[in-house]
Amino acid sequence: MKTFTSPAELHAWSREQKRLGRVVGLVPTMGCLHEGHLSLIREARGRCDVVVVSIFVNPAQFGPSEDYDAYPRREQDDLALCEGEGADAVFLPSPADMYPPDASTWVEETVLAKGYCGAQRPGHFRGVCTVVAKLFNIVGPDVAVFGQKDFQQVAVIRRMVRDLNFPIEIVRAPIVRDADGLAKSSRNAYLTPEDRTSALSLSRALATARAAVASGERSAATLEAAARAETTAAGWVPDYVNVVDSETLMPLQEVLPGASAMLIACRKGNLRLIDNTLL
Ligand code: AMP
Repeated sequence: MKTFTSPAELHAWSREQKRLGRVVGLVPTMGCLHEGHLSLIREARGRCDVVVVSIFVNPAQFGPSEDYDAYPRREQDDLALCEGEGADAVFLPSPADMYPPDASTWVEETVLAKGYCGAQRPGHFRGVCTVVAKLFNIVGPDVAVFGQKDFQQVAVIRRMVRDLNFPIEIVRAPIVRDADGLAKSSRNAYLTPEDRTSALSLSRALATARAAVASGERSAATLEAAARAETTAAGWVPDYVNVVDSETLMPLQEVLPGASAMLIACRKGNLRLIDNTLL
């Protein structure tokens, strides 16, 4: 497995892979890898000849009062996990490798990025789109794999890829959960055992919504109210709970089975968790 910190060196290596006729896959991450990330690497392995994993805690997607400095970093473990999954290359740039000190160009999707996490975290998706566009230019992948865990992020990136003509297939891989239902996240490391137990209210609320839809419930308001009640009772205050069109992310009044999702974000003190389900 190769490791790169230099964008130019990775670019040259990736070009050579393409010249040799290989299909190149990219899995962008912020590291502290868990089974969710590894499932994306496996997905890319199954579709591509060579797989590049990027590990970069991107300062541009963190707000000034967010957890950039505290974000968990575990480079050596991450490298071993990538190697174990058969990644061909890992890209570990520093912020200085990625951003010239006077960088003044940003990539911004202006519609899908507005609501939900975009409303709660101003500038977040601008940072995400900018770094992902840069990674796309550096690696030139044929396929890039993202997790459904960040539902809005995949929708925003798909729109960016369409709007800016990146010749890249975007794959959305399913959410990997712990056995009790909690969606795996690097930020779960911040949870005390009590927080972790109460955090199960998010996945429970989503499972309840799925079951209600299976039994014929179609009212978004009814489903959202039940989900809010479930997390609130467990001490998790909803930032948002919305039934949305799974492609446009527009809020829906009525579930369109097979074309809808429920998105949820909750806070407890400084903690913030997101989760979602297709309906
Ligand atoms: P992050 O390191 O949090 O930026 O995540 C990197 C990629 O892994 C993103 O595409 C996430 O959506 C994806 N991811 C994170 N957690 C999970 C999970 N539990 N299941 C599937 N994909 C995930």
